[in-house]
Amino acid sequence: MSSGNPMNFDELYREVILDHCKRPRNFGPLPQATATAHGDNPSCGDEVHLGIVLSPEGVVEDIKFTGQACAISTASTSLMTTLVKGKKREEAEALLKDFENMICHIEETKPPASLGNLRALAGVRQFPQRVKCAMLGWRALEQTLDGNSSAPKTITTEEPSS
Ligand code: ZN
Repeated sequence: MSSGNPMNFDELYREVILDHCKRPRNFGPLPQATATAHGDNPSCGDEVHLGIVLSPEGVVEDIKFTGQACAISTASTSLMTTLVKGKKREEAEALLKDFENMICHIEETKPPASLGNLRALAGVRQFPQRVKCAMLGWRALEQTLDGNSSAPKTITTEEPSS
């Protein structure tokens, strides 16, 4: 970290997103999952299948995802898995709230440090269609943290059309 080379934060964050998009972390099937959720974002064509292993004490012992999604969706889900793995359910839920606040509330200016590299996605809040992409993996996480049921749940970030 030399002070003579001011690396642009936007640049740094774009690299984070590209990196996670090209090499998603915790990507693959998780046959021993205790809860799974299928996330669908039809407006973009994103699909995320998320599996977690939640210990009896409520700790996220393992988390993995598969699916086909755009760069924002893939990077968001990949970053999310690295952040919540090893965390307690309540901590994971708090991160979900932080993330949701960051990308759904435009007036918020400073993303919380708890989100780490996920702050790379703060700019998404200017683009409502992209918010759905970024939230997809998180909505799936919400379902898996919630559920005792082993039946896969399907969620969508698409608003119901009326
Ligand atoms: Zn997308």
